[in-house]
Parts: sequence; C-alpha cells; structure tokens
Amino acid sequence: MRRIVLWIALLVLGITLAIGSTIVVQQRPVAEVSYVSTPASPAIAPPPLPQPTLTAVPFPQISDKARSLDVPIIMYHDVKPLKDVEWDITPEHLAQHFQTIQEKGLTPITLAQLIDHFQTDAPLPPKPILLTFDDNYLGEYRYAFPLLKQYNYPAVWSVHTHYVGSQAGKPKATWEQLREMVQSGLITVASHTVNHLRLDTLSPEKVDYELTESKRVLEQQLGVPIQYFTYPEGDYIDSVKHKIAAAGYQAALSMSLDARVERVANQSDDVLSIMRFGQSRFEEIVGTIDH
Ligand SMILES: [Zn+2]
Repeated sequence: MRRIVLWIALLVLGITLAIGSTIVVQQRPVAEVSYVSTPASPAIAPPPLPQPTLTAVPFPQISDKARSLDVPIIMYHDVKPLKDVEWDITPEHLAQHFQTIQEKGLTPITLAQLIDHFQTDAPLPPKPILLTFDDNYLGEYRYAFPLLKQYNYPAVWSVHTHYVGSQAGKPKATWEQLREMVQSGLITVASHTVNHLRLDTLSPEKVDYELTESKRVLEQQLGVPIQYFTYPEGDYIDSVKHKIAAAGYQAALSMSLDARVERVANQSDDVLSIMRFGQSRFEEIVGTIDH
C-alpha cells in the first residue's frame, strides 16, 4: 500500500512538473510576441527606404559620364561702379548677367553639387552654371551678395585669410560680413591661401602652411568645414595637387591667364584642377549653352 501511495505521489509530482515546464516553455514566445506586437512608439523612425547607390570614381578623377555635360564656371573679381581693372565688373553689368541667367533658364549650382556629379554622376538641374567670386573684395559683398539673395543663386567665395577686413588698396570684406554670407546658406567659402602667393614659388613647408593655416582659420572663424581650395595667381600646379588633397580639400578651382586654355569644368583634368572662365567671356559662353 505504501508503495502504491509513493508511486501515485511521484506520478502527481511528475505531471505537475511537466505541466509547469510546458507553461514556462509556452510563456516565452507569448511574452516575445506581446513585446514585438506593442504599437510602435512615434519616436521610433520607420526603416529608411532603399536608396540607389551611386558609385564614386577614384579621387580625384572625373567620371566619363559627367564629362558629357557642359558646366561653365564663371570667375568674378571686384564689383565696382568704376572699374579699377579690366576683370572688375560694374554692379549694373553683373545684374545683367543674373538677368540673362534667369532668362536663359540656367540653374546656378553649388560646388558640392558639381563635385558630387563629377564623382558619382549624381544628376544636375537643367543648364547648370557655377558662379565664383575671388579675393573677398568688399564690392563683392556690397553688390554681388544682395543680387545672389535676390535671385536665390548659390556662389563660391574664395578668401585669402591674411587680407580679411583689410582696408588697404581694394578693401576686403570682414569676418562678420563673411559669417553673414555663410549663414545665408548661399555662399560656399573656399580657401584661397593665407597670403595669395603663387604656390610654385614657395618652399614645400610654406606651401603646407598656406594650405593648412588658411583652412584652420576659416573653419575657426566661420564655424563650417572648408572643403574646397582655389589656386591663387593663375593656373593650377600639378606638383602641389597631392598637398591640397593631404590638407583635406575635396576639390580645387583653377583659372588661366590664357583665354585659350579656359574651358568648361567637365573638361578639366580632374577635381583638383577645375577650370573656369573669366567673367568678360560670360555672354560668349552663355550664348553657346543650348542643352
Ligand atoms: Zn585670387
């Protein structure tokens, strides 16, 4: 009898344990499901939609496809009612350029858009053109910046840091004025070195200084990353391209004192020697755009 009672007791205990463990096993997935099925909090963002991936060509190349779309870059210097030199422009003449850009359906783009297009074939808006202003003249701030705001056109400002705010000779814009332009969202500031000296006349150490110190000061004063460089005093220099890249710049604007060398940006050697047209050729260049 005792043995039977013992067997029954063991049987009851076994059944109890079996049921208990089944409940435990069943509760786990239920608990997980109930956690997952809780309505998503509005703070949790939906998963990002898949984006087409654009493959970049190796730096500093320009993609073959991008070479087929002509993008002129116009280079301006001082804007003055009475021109000092031939490459200055009057405010009235600059306003005519902007009017022409609008009438011809051209779209001023940013340098970032152009570099993205050069490296990944990212599409550009219709009839793209890039406007650039060199040497940070006060006349550029006084006359070109209000026009850019009026038309909502972006532009590049190439600034040599040693001359910011200088009133000697042709006056230059101040840090405060530069900050105002950057904060407008229309102006991309590029480094134009510290002292505006031809880089192939300097020692390697001085080239490094001109490249890195100008970037450091511009970033400190303006609070934005400085990603682009503009060669001072003429054409690009092959021997310093690697230094420009090493200093952290993603692209460099060039020019030529020989109008025959000027060409559309997409025909430049690479993104460290991007060619521009002097503004005196604006009507000629814009007249040829028909795409
Ligand atoms: Zn310059």
